[in-house]
Amino acid sequence: MDFMRIAIIGAGYVGLTTGAALAYLGHHVTCVENDGRKLASLKGGRCPIREPGVEEIMRDAGERLLFTSDISEAVGADAIMIAVGTPSREDGSADLRYVEGAAREVAEAMRSGRRYTVVMKSTVPVGTNRRVRDMIREILSERDSTAEFQVVSNPEFLSEGQALRDFLYPDRIVVGADGPEGLEVMRRMYLPVLEQSFEPPVWLPRPANYTRPSLVATDPASAEMIKYAANAFLALKVSFINEMAGLCERVGADVREVARGIGLDPRIGPRFLQAGAGWGGSCFPKDTAALIALGRDNGYEMPIVSATRLVNQRQRVHIVDKLEDALDGFAGKTVGVLGIAFKPGTDDIRDAPSLDIMRLLRERGARVRAHDPAAMMNARAALDGLRRFVEWMQSYNEGTTCAS
Ligand code: NAD
Repeated sequence: MDFMRIAIIGAGYVGLTTGAALAYLGHHVTCVENDGRKLASLKGGRCPIREPGVEEIMRDAGERLLFTSDISEAVGADAIMIAVGTPSREDGSADLRYVEGAAREVAEAMRSGRRYTVVMKSTVPVGTNRRVRDMIREILSERDSTAEFQVVSNPEFLSEGQALRDFLYPDRIVVGADGPEGLEVMRRMYLPVLEQSFEPPVWLPRPANYTRPSLVATDPASAEMIKYAANAFLALKVSFINEMAGLCERVGADVREVARGIGLDPRIGPRFLQAGAGWGGSCFPKDTAALIALGRDNGYEMPIVSATRLVNQRQRVHIVDKLEDALDGFAGKTVGVLGIAFKPGTDDIRDAPSLDIMRLLRERGARVRAHDPAAMMNARAALDGLRRFVEWMQSYNEGTTCAS
């Protein structure tokens, strides 16, 4: 097997899982991380995020997995993967400052006479791969560098809490490349997964009936779009069943029966049809917002995606309304919230429905006690913000704070 030297910029949920798994498969991986606390923990062999199996797989990878904050150690690699965050800007569009920052650092460190493949793993709007390519080209030309490179899109579909399973046993691997060379590099990188030729970790056996993944080879713009379309569609399914749930309550039907009845239709499928508090997390909220912003920038409305977001927001309010009804008001009541992370199996609380729900409960006069077995550390920081918000609201209502 032809193993590669791979560098990954950003060792967060995606970068770290991907890096550790690629090293487990036999590649030599250097993860570049600029958050000092995360880096110290990684260098000490500890996984700074709650993601099952990652610490074990880091241990198994041994010397094939290195961590650094020094970009110059990354440019010895054949492939450099960018896996930094792409949060929302105020107007909903994707904030590309970390992607551009990483691309700039890579371009400034590239060595003359070498050829690189830059892999865009972060979720980025259509056209970003092309812009990153132009940016790197410009920096190399300013430096009179003879380094050569290509940019390949390789969006990620892992789901937090089962990220390693999703990496080792994916449904598909999407590669957006401008030519056959980029596709070939990615085929080499993923060969053990594509052929399922690796020895599965004992604690993560190959699922029964698992068949090899498809390699979706396409152009960069389509690859970028596939990622957003996939997330928007999954968010839509959840919002759809939540909308059905609201009507079911009013007409005396059981939404779980409805979900079972429609989910057995293979054209619909049973997954993402559990009615509940709605979706949250670090992807669906920001990616649906970015899709709408991309539509707006291109003079195209996205009413289905907009409604998906609206229904999701309404669901959070609806839950608090129901509880207020059931408790006959919140005055003097304490509400226990079990689970703060946006879903089980992770410590990620980014855009978790629980935060909005707790905020609403407090605004309406309830006391809130919350617990999460995995996310308490992250929750404390967020809830501190919540506490400050509520105190501000109270003093505002009592007239002791001036609205500005
Ligand atoms: P994250 O915030 O957990 O990790 C990003 C990391 O990059 C951070 O640790 C940050 O310190 C580091 N970083 C930023 N700039 C850097 C630089 N110049 N040099 C070195 N390190 C740098 O983000 P994430 O959840 O891993 O998401 C990364 C991307 O993957 C996003 O675009 C996201 O939309 C996408 N994605 C995420 C998931 C998920 O479930 N989390 C799934 C699929 C796709």
